Amino acid sequence: MSNKIQSIRGMHDVLPESSPHWQYLEATVNKLLTGYGYSEIRMPVVEKTELFSRSIGEVTDIVEKEMYTFEDRNGDSLTLRPEGTAGCVRAAIENGLIHNQQQRLWYVGPMFRHERPQKGRYRQFHQIGVETFGIPGPDIDVELMAMTARLWDQLGLKDVRLEINSLGSLSARQAYREILVSYFKDNFDVLDEEARNRLETNPLRILDTKNPNMAELVQNAPSLLDHLDAECAQHFETVQARLEALGIAYVVNPRLVRGLDYYSRSVFEWITESLGAQGTICAGGRYDGLIEQLGGRAGHAAGFAMGMERLLALLEEEGNLPEQPRPHIYMVTFGDEAEQAGLVLSEKLRSQLPGLRLINNCGGGGFKAQMKRADKSQADFALIMGEDELTSQSVSLKPLREAGAEQLRLNHDELIERLKQQLQA
Ligand code: ATP
Ligand code: MG
Repeated sequence: MSNKIQSIRGMHDVLPESSPHWQYLEATVNKLLTGYGYSEIRMPVVEKTELFSRSIGEVTDIVEKEMYTFEDRNGDSLTLRPEGTAGCVRAAIENGLIHNQQQRLWYVGPMFRHERPQKGRYRQFHQIGVETFGIPGPDIDVELMAMTARLWDQLGLKDVRLEINSLGSLSARQAYREILVSYFKDNFDVLDEEARNRLETNPLRILDTKNPNMAELVQNAPSLLDHLDAECAQHFETVQARLEALGIAYVVNPRLVRGLDYYSRSVFEWITESLGAQGTICAGGRYDGLIEQLGGRAGHAAGFAMGMERLLALLEEEGNLPEQPRPHIYMVTFGDEAEQAGLVLSEKLRSQLPGLRLINNCGGGGFKAQMKRADKSQADFALIMGEDELTSQSVSLKPLREAGAEQLRLNHDELIERLKQQLQA
């Protein structure tokens, strides 16, 4: 026998026992977003490499070292999407969804980054992303935060906090950049190698370091918030005032810079302490420059993305995952004729009782074997069709989960009545 082929490191199967959790999360989000007027968009998983290097930024973790990039058979450089924003903006420009109009969009799907796999960090992971186009003001920034706050509430998540910051305008950021570079140069000996490299190319990214030896240095760095122009400062104040009006607690974290280059003005993260180092479950902000950067006419944009694996881990941690719905009925039959009659009856039941969860025994087996499968299926009842039932045009309903409950012999109409009541209960 040849060796078993294994999955790729950091890429996981979602097994039947956990797929209901994924479905629950997706359904909850879908309903919530629909309620706020958002529509789903589906983009390809593969895009031209240039899309990401141009949008995310050449000097970011993602583009420098995390992308799955390959040449296709035509010699074009393609990349498995590491995030959804760039593709969504590309799709919106290409399909005329941006110019002269507002859009509220969302998507869900796998993203790919070649990172070191660990708890909450995978090479294929899943994001639910939201992007809005054509809305310049703090109103939409706050809508995004309020919407996520409501989602946590609906999911029953408690241990999450909102951190916000403003990255200001491009010109404010350029002025701040000089100040930051000179601060870091004064402390050159504390910088790690990566930070030293970033000093010339992308010094703001140093604030996002995960190196504990640099934590204090970053903590004491000059703050961009002291260098905002009046308009950006006003935008940021309105965001805070609205959050307060809504009773949404937040902390201003002047070192929140986000891992991608395209943000401006509002940025935010939802963070939990319950998941260890990988505590950011949702991150986003305003990225007004990106549309133009990708070849569209200058426009406004804001959005966020949540990591589904981290959200599900948190739901599990806090004991908030729903139970999988059990089947109502497992149909057991004996003999060829009864098997056929059972099949016909179960299709009749499915037609008359929407929402009924019924499993037919397939693959034969004696009474004991079939009842064992019925029990394992977690069904509430076994529905038994044997020779007696066949001749009397009836069926036996055997409760499987109630101690002492009696088996009933019912004709088909009685059965349907009974199941109707059961389904309504
Ligand atoms: P981090 O700082 O944790 O690396 P990031 O800034 O790279 O995160 P984003 O690009 O903003 O993350 O992605 C949004 C969200 O997607 C993150 O907040 C996180 O929940 C999730 N996420 C990002 N990378 C991964 C990954 N490799 N595995 C699982 N989830 C991830
Ligand atoms: Mg990252």
